[in-house]
Parts: sequence; structure tokens; C-alpha cells
Amino acid sequence: MTARGRTVVVGAGMAAARLADELAASGSPVTVLGDEPHPPYNRILLSAVLEGTHDPDAIALPLHPDVDLRRDSRVVELHTADREVELADRSRVPYDALVLATGSIPTLPPVRGLVRLDGRLHERVHAFRSLEDCRRLGAAVPGARTAVVVGGGLLGLQVARALARRGLEVEVVEGGEHLLRSQVDAKAGAILARDLRRLGTSVYTGARATRLTDEGLVLDNGVLLPTDLVVLTAGGRPSTALARRAGLEVRRGVVVDHELRTSDPHVHAIGDCAQHRDQVTGFVPPAWEQAGLLARLLTGSTIRYDGARTVARLRATDLDVAVLGDPERTEGQVVEVTNPVVGSHRKLVVRDGVIVAATLVGDLSRIGLITQHYDRGTVLGPAEPGALLMADRPVQPAYLADDTEVCACAGVTAGRLRRCASLEEARASTRATTGCGGCADTVRSLLGTTTLEGVSP
Ligand SMILES: Cc1cc2nc3c(=O)[nH]c(=O)nc-3n(C[C@H](O)[C@H](O)[C@H](O)COP(=O)(O)OP(=O)(O)OC[C@H]3O[C@@H](n4cnc5c(N)ncnc54)[C@H](O)[C@@H]3O)c2cc1C
Repeated sequence: MTARGRTVVVGAGMAAARLADELAASGSPVTVLGDEPHPPYNRILLSAVLEGTHDPDAIALPLHPDVDLRRDSRVVELHTADREVELADRSRVPYDALVLATGSIPTLPPVRGLVRLDGRLHERVHAFRSLEDCRRLGAAVPGARTAVVVGGGLLGLQVARALARRGLEVEVVEGGEHLLRSQVDAKAGAILARDLRRLGTSVYTGARATRLTDEGLVLDNGVLLPTDLVVLTAGGRPSTALARRAGLEVRRGVVVDHELRTSDPHVHAIGDCAQHRDQVTGFVPPAWEQAGLLARLLTGSTIRYDGARTVARLRATDLDVAVLGDPERTEGQVVEVTNPVVGSHRKLVVRDGVIVAATLVGDLSRIGLITQHYDRGTVLGPAEPGALLMADRPVQPAYLADDTEVCACAGVTAGRLRRCASLEEARASTRATTGCGGCADTVRSLLGTTTLEGVSP
């Protein structure tokens, strides 16, 4: 089935690429207007480019040749009454359906001296959101010896590891009481801090950067960190300015309903810029889930979006973190095992016998089985959650049931992967391994196998 008329997508990021690829593959005309100079790429792998393990060309996302991709095309206004968008050069592009996929905007922390009088970042200061940011930071690394990363969230840890792997002395400053405070609890944060220190990176928590001077970065506890580079990774907010100016309903993000429609029925929003019920996301798995669903909706399927099931996985060398759902805000009984000696923390939030959220730090050997129970809503016996956490043997992929989600980024199950003959086929036909890449080993061992479900692992 093809879409009725032309779909125009604003933004050429991860959500846009998946939507446009699927629309074009089904024969529907689609134009993508992106303000970056590159074709869409995998943002998760920017830290791998910075680290030097991936070439920038290798992180390009697949895009069907029929997609009308226009780079360097910044949309400055939506004219919803005329069903047109206006570009920075004042030209207009008409649409039948419009999709906002403008992502998020990094927030600038209130630190004096970050910005020069001409409004640009100080030469020692770097953002880390785009391939251009990554190139600028990568070019500064050979002339630097030290770096301070401001922000101890997922992005901060990725950048810190990448810079440390490039040989820099790295320090992480986090204003909250522990690392990854939006996703994990203090025990898990402490394990991560310990891991980072073991890998040679200093960590300052409960400390805010206040000023950048010629001598270095000054913290609110009086500590001065002399540094050659400062990298800002302290959060972002949905990019909503276009929608707001066009009079669409905007709260934290652009508000969408169960068909990912905004308050104008011809305009949709997906990815980091969208808000469904009270949820804005900020991760690839929900952005790709929304993109896949909207492609089907625009080509005539009737299907409902019921909100994202969030799975966050950290892509950073030597740091293992996975978070299912929202373990810090979900009510339930907590079953947890912390082993500071080996640096692992595993926590399940269980309600009426069902795993409703989980955190795994330092040991992801049971992620497949835990995800399987979480996805299926399996009702576990009283001893099972504890047994799941205590076991130290990894679960062999052969025991994963066919409906277990193996690639959280692209939403691919073990059964679909078993039907693929090669990694290339799996990548091309399912997109497995093309997001954070954390599932690659499991995917390889599933190819062309059959399930041993029912046999105890
Ligand atoms: C460095 C980094 C590492 C990350 N690591 C992870 C990770 O490990 N796991 C994970 O799940 N998520 C991660 N994320 C988050 C993930 O990348 C986002 O959730 C995802 O990219 C969202 O897709 P999107 O299409 O909504 O936004 P984006 O991919 O950000 O794309 C939005 C695009 O729209 C463009 N745009 C904005 N306004 C306009 C306009 N007016 N006109 C034209 N174009 C416009 C932007 O320039 C951008 O290219 C990471 C993000 C970053 C920056």
C-alpha cells in the first residue's frame, strides 16, 4: 500500500531515515529536509568515530534510492493552512502529510566563559550531538592532553570512554549525586564511577562546573580542573520551536495522539521531538518504533501507538549498562544483587510476579532472558527473580524463545534472526545490529539455528 500523496519529513536524523526508507520501499513519495550537510547517520556510533574504531562513512544509515533527500535544507516555518514548509532560502515545499522529526537541542549548562562574545563556543569547548561536532572534537584531540566532560549521563560516559581510549586524561563532572542519575540508582551509579576510575578516568559527582577560565574549569566546591578540552553533554530538550510557532500543541515535546498525529491532522511528529501522553523519549528504540509504525499508518494501516517500551543500552567500550523501563520511578518489589568486588549491579522491579523494570550494570549475561520475561509479562514464581539475578552462567542464545526481542534498537526477535542465513541478510532485512550494536554477538549465534525453548538453560 502506498501513502496518499507526498510525505515531507523535517529533519534527516535517525527517526526520519527509518520512516523515509520504509515509505520509499513501499512506493510512496517522500521528501526529507535536513539541515545537516550529511546524509542520515547513526548518532549512537559518533563515540565510535571519535574513538577511531569507525570511519564516518561507515555510520551512514540505509536509505532507499527513491527518497528525495535534501541536505543543508533548514526549515524555518510551517505554513499549515497552505500545507507548505518554508526553507531558509525562502523557497517552499508542498506536502500532503508532514512529519516533524527534528530531534532534540543540547542544553548549554550555566557555566561562565563557555561562549565567546560572537556567540560561538570557546575554542576549548565542544558540543557532541552531530557529526560536525564529532569531527571538530576529533581534530582537537591530537593537540590535547586533558579533557573534562560536563555531564555524567549516557552521552557523557560514551564520550569520556572514547577520549580516554584516544589517550587523553579525562575527568567527568556530574552535578547530581551519582552517574547516570536519570536511569539508575545510587548503587549502580557508584559501580559505574568505580569502573571509570579503574579505567583511569576521574569522576566528580555532586559538583557543578561554574566558570571556565584560562587556568581551567572551576567547580562550585572550589576545585579547579586544568584542562585542554571541555565537552558538554549535560542533556537536551525536544526541538519544538517550529511546531510552537505554527500553533501546534506543544508541552515538553510536540504532543501526538495514538496515530502519532499532532493537533493538526496533516502533521505528525516522531522521535526525540514528540510527546505521547506524558512521555518524551530520547532513545533510538522508541524513535525507530514510532518511525516504523508511522510508515504503516501513512500507507493505510490501522494501528495504534500505545507508548514506548523503553530499553536503553550504553554503547561505550568497557562499560556495560542496560535499563529496561524506568526502574527508579516504577512501583513494585525490588530484587537486587550488588557485587562491588566484580563491579556488577543487577536489579529487577517486580509487580504481581511480573518484571516491570530492570537495571543491569557490569554484567549483561542475563539480558536476553530478562528481556524475554519483561516483554512477555511472564508471571514468575517467588524464587525466580532472585534465581535470575544470582545465576552467573550466561544464557546461551539457543534457549531464547522465538518472540524474545534481541535487538532492542530495531525491535528484532530471535525468531526473525533464526530465519536469516547470514549477518548481512540480518542487517539488510531486519536492521538488527545497526543501532547500538550491543546485540551483535547474540545475533551471530542465532543465525540459521532453531530454538531450544522448553529446555532449561
Ligand atoms: C552522541 C549521541 C549518542 C547517543 N547514544 C545513544 C545510545 O547509545 N542509545 C540510544 O538509544 N540513544 C542514543 N542517543 C540518542 C539518539 O541518537 C536519539 O534518540 C535519536 O537520534 C533520535 O532520533 P531523531 O530522528 O528524533 O533525532 P535526531 O537523530 O537528533 O535527528 C534530528 C535531525 O533534525 C535536524 N533538524 C532539526 N531542526 C531542523 C530544521 N528546522 N530543519 C531541518 N532539519 C532540522 C537535526 O539537525 C537532526 O539532524 C545518542 C545521541 C547522541 C547525540
